[in-house]
Amino acid sequence: MTARCYCGASRLTLDKPPFTVAYCHCSDCRRWTGAPVAAFAAVDRADVSDQLPAPYRGAPGVERWTCPTCHGPLAAAFAYLPDQVYVPLGIIDQADRLLPEMHSHAGSALPWLHIADDLPRAQASARDDLNRAAT
Ligand SMILES: [Zn+2]
Ligand SMILES: [Zn+2]
Repeated sequence: MTARCYCGASRLTLDKPPFTVAYCHCSDCRRWTGAPVAAFAAVDRADVSDQLPAPYRGAPGVERWTCPTCHGPLAAAFAYLPDQVYVPLGIIDQADRLLPEMHSHAGSALPWLHIADDLPRAQASARDDLNRAAT
Protein backbone atom coordinates (compact mmCIF):
# COMPACT_ATOMS: atom_id res chain seq x y z
CA MET A 1 0.00 0.00 0.00
CA THR A 2 1.06 3.55 -0.56
CA ALA A 3 -0.08 6.76 1.07
CA ARG A 4 0.62 10.42 0.62
CA CYS A 5 -0.25 13.66 2.31
CA TYR A 6 -2.30 16.48 0.81
CA CYS A 7 0.68 18.08 -0.98
CA GLY A 8 2.56 14.88 -1.83
CA ALA A 9 5.79 15.83 -0.04
CA SER A 10 5.23 13.10 2.56
CA ARG A 11 4.75 9.54 1.34
CA LEU A 12 4.45 6.21 3.08
CA THR A 13 5.03 2.75 1.68
CA LEU A 14 3.32 0.01 3.67
CA ASP A 15 4.79 -3.38 2.85
CA LYS A 16 2.33 -5.52 4.78
CA PRO A 17 -1.46 -5.46 4.79
CA PRO A 18 -2.97 -3.69 7.82
CA PHE A 19 -3.79 -5.64 11.00
CA THR A 20 -7.23 -4.19 10.82
CA VAL A 21 -9.17 -1.19 9.58
CA ALA A 22 -11.34 0.71 12.01
CA TYR A 23 -13.50 3.78 12.25
CA CYS A 24 -12.78 6.07 15.18
CA HIS A 25 -15.56 8.35 16.37
CA CYS A 26 -13.62 10.02 19.19
CA SER A 27 -13.57 13.79 19.29
CA ASP A 28 -9.75 13.84 19.21
CA CYS A 29 -9.60 12.03 15.86
CA ARG A 30 -12.45 14.15 14.51
CA ARG A 31 -10.58 17.30 15.39
CA TRP A 32 -7.30 16.03 14.02
CA THR A 33 -8.68 14.83 10.69
CA GLY A 34 -11.33 17.53 10.37
CA ALA A 35 -13.85 14.86 9.34
CA PRO A 36 -17.07 13.82 11.13
CA VAL A 37 -15.60 10.36 11.58
CA ALA A 38 -12.05 9.13 11.13
CA ALA A 39 -11.05 5.75 9.73
CA PHE A 40 -7.63 4.21 9.99
CA ALA A 41 -5.56 1.27 8.78
CA ALA A 42 -3.54 -0.23 11.64
CA VAL A 43 0.00 -1.11 10.60
CA ASP A 44 3.18 -2.35 12.25
CA ARG A 45 5.07 0.57 13.73
CA ALA A 46 8.36 -0.91 12.53
CA ASP A 47 7.12 -0.72 8.93
CA VAL A 48 6.57 3.03 8.95
CA SER A 49 8.60 4.52 11.82
CA ASP A 50 11.57 5.50 9.64
CA GLN A 51 9.24 7.14 7.09
CA LEU A 52 7.63 9.54 9.56
CA PRO A 53 8.81 12.99 10.68
CA ALA A 54 8.98 13.96 14.36
CA PRO A 55 5.58 13.42 16.01
CA TYR A 56 3.36 16.00 17.65
CA ARG A 57 2.53 14.91 21.19
CA GLY A 58 -0.80 16.37 22.25
CA ALA A 59 -2.85 14.28 24.63
CA PRO A 60 -0.81 12.04 26.97
CA GLY A 61 0.16 8.78 25.28
CA VAL A 62 -0.80 10.01 21.81
CA GLU A 63 1.54 10.77 18.93
CA ARG A 64 0.31 12.34 15.70
CA TRP A 65 2.36 12.89 12.59
CA THR A 66 1.63 15.49 9.97
CA CYS A 67 3.41 16.54 6.80
CA PRO A 68 6.06 19.19 7.59
CA THR A 69 5.11 21.04 4.38
CA CYS A 70 1.29 21.00 4.15
CA HIS A 71 0.55 19.84 7.74
CA GLY A 72 -1.92 17.26 6.48
CA PRO A 73 -2.39 14.17 8.68
CA LEU A 74 -0.08 11.19 8.14
CA ALA A 75 -0.38 8.83 11.08
CA ALA A 76 -1.26 8.48 14.74
CA ALA A 77 -0.18 6.17 17.55
CA PHE A 78 -1.65 5.47 20.96
CA ALA A 79 0.30 4.13 23.96
CA TYR A 80 -2.46 1.64 24.77
CA LEU A 81 -2.01 0.11 21.30
CA PRO A 82 1.72 -0.65 21.44
CA ASP A 83 3.77 -1.17 18.26
CA GLN A 84 0.86 -0.03 16.08
CA VAL A 85 0.55 3.05 13.90
CA TYR A 86 -2.79 4.23 12.53
CA VAL A 87 -2.76 5.67 9.02
CA PRO A 88 -5.89 7.63 8.02
CA LEU A 89 -7.71 5.83 5.21
CA GLY A 90 -8.20 9.09 3.37
CA ILE A 91 -4.50 9.37 2.50
CA ILE A 92 -4.06 5.73 1.39
CA ASP A 93 -4.10 5.22 -2.38
CA GLN A 94 -5.75 1.79 -2.04
CA ALA A 95 -8.44 2.88 0.45
CA ASP A 96 -11.15 1.48 -1.84
CA ARG A 97 -9.89 -2.01 -0.96
CA LEU A 98 -9.60 -1.45 2.81
CA LEU A 99 -12.92 -2.33 4.35
CA PRO A 100 -13.44 -1.19 7.94
CA GLU A 101 -13.91 -4.04 10.43
CA MET A 102 -15.09 -2.21 13.54
CA HIS A 103 -16.16 1.09 15.04
CA SER A 104 -14.24 2.40 18.04
CA HIS A 105 -15.53 5.11 20.36
CA ALA A 106 -19.00 4.56 18.87
CA GLY A 107 -20.38 6.15 22.02
CA SER A 108 -18.90 9.47 20.85
CA ALA A 109 -20.32 9.34 17.32
CA LEU A 110 -22.06 12.45 16.06
CA PRO A 111 -25.80 11.90 16.57
CA TRP A 112 -26.69 12.64 12.94
CA LEU A 113 -24.08 10.31 11.46
CA HIS A 114 -25.61 7.03 10.31
CA ILE A 115 -23.37 4.32 8.89
CA ALA A 116 -25.52 1.36 7.90
CA ASP A 117 -23.35 -1.67 8.63
CA ASP A 118 -23.36 -4.54 11.10
CA LEU A 119 -19.76 -4.09 12.25
CA PRO A 120 -18.90 -4.43 15.94
CA ARG A 121 -19.31 -1.12 17.78
CA ALA A 122 -17.16 -0.51 20.82
CA GLN A 123 -18.52 2.28 22.98
CA ALA A 124 -14.97 3.17 24.04
CA SER A 125 -11.50 2.54 22.64
CA ALA A 126 -11.85 -1.10 21.46
CA ARG A 127 -8.30 -1.55 22.69
CA ASP A 128 -8.69 -5.27 23.34
CA ASP A 129 -10.05 -5.97 19.86
CA LEU A 130 -7.40 -3.79 18.25
CA ASN A 131 -4.55 -5.36 20.20
CA ARG A 132 -5.90 -8.83 19.39
CA ALA A 133 -5.93 -7.95 15.69
CA ALA A 134 -2.28 -6.97 15.89
CA THR A 135 -1.07 -10.29 17.26
ZN1 LIG B 1 2.24 17.49 2.57
ZN1 LIG C 1 -9.88 8.40 17.94
